[in-house]
Amino acid sequence: MSIKVGIPRSLFYYQMYPLWQTFFEELGAEVVVSENTSKKILDDGVRICVDEACLPVKLFHGHVISLKDRVDYLFIPRMTSISKGEYICPKVGGLPDMIRSSIKGLPEIIDVEINLRKSGSSELESALDIGSYVCKDGRRIKRAYIKALDKFNEYKADVERGFIPGDDINRKRNIYVVKNSELLNIAIIGHPYNLYDSYVNMNLISKLRGDGINIITHEMVSEEIINSYADKLNKKVFWNFGRKALGSVRHFVERNDIKGIIFVVSFGCGIDAFIGDLAERIVRRNSSIPFMFISLDEHSGEAGLDTRLEAFTDMIRWRSKNESNFSAHG
Ligand code: SF4
Repeated sequence: MSIKVGIPRSLFYYQMYPLWQTFFEELGAEVVVSENTSKKILDDGVRICVDEACLPVKLFHGHVISLKDRVDYLFIPRMTSISKGEYICPKVGGLPDMIRSSIKGLPEIIDVEINLRKSGSSELESALDIGSYVCKDGRRIKRAYIKALDKFNEYKADVERGFIPGDDINRKRNIYVVKNSELLNIAIIGHPYNLYDSYVNMNLISKLRGDGINIITHEMVSEEIINSYADKLNKKVFWNFGRKALGSVRHFVERNDIKGIIFVVSFGCGIDAFIGDLAERIVRRNSSIPFMFISLDEHSGEAGLDTRLEAFTDMIRWRSKNESNFSAHG
């Protein structure tokens, strides 16, 4: 019987799942993912997690609860840094400790630090450590890692081409290539776990698409473009998400086909509060593109979101017909 490795459908799942799934499966493990987010998963997470945590971290707790009794290992890497010179949010780095202290009856956690800022540390070393939980053959782990990287690069290329990961991350029918000049382009910036979890964001993306909007996320902008714009910022941003968000915002304000920008933030997220404010200033100072924040928390109501989206898209449509009479800033 194969070893079961549980992966919570939360946080970095939306960025890394194709890499993690291929890696563990190549090592002969069975990968079990928690179900799509539901009211029960969210309620369980909110009940057990510390009040001060942000929504995504609370939700992660709920996904762990839904998985823990069905697997031999839980994969919760200690993600400190996944890119040279940059950090991930400390709440993600401390997740294995938070989970251990909040939830009882856990299986063993695959708790390996991924810290590319540490001297001498590499992705391959982390992969060898992670793989050693389910396989003792170092060469096989290396081969699995190389295969997983290929899958991961394919996935990233799909996302750049317009694939919205959504609930089924392996499904490619979702690729949405814009050909219709009637559609309005709206850029959406936010953590992938907020943008692609349709329960948490109350179907934000499908609502906008249903209204004839073409969605361009910051993940659809290539690393080269993001970096070229991030390099022009007054100061280097040392958060991985911050660089991507601000680099893409600068890029969006210079494109002439973006009609609106939405920044999705998690209530209680310090990084979002800081980066969101900088993003808004970049947009306001350098363009007249309408800009809106959508803040998500466990109390967010769908009717309020619908009203705001409708008002935002109506205003953009009116502006495109009668540009000079409508303010971008309300
Ligand atoms: S970056 Fe923000 S939303 Fe994400 S885990 Fe950290 S505090 Fe939560």
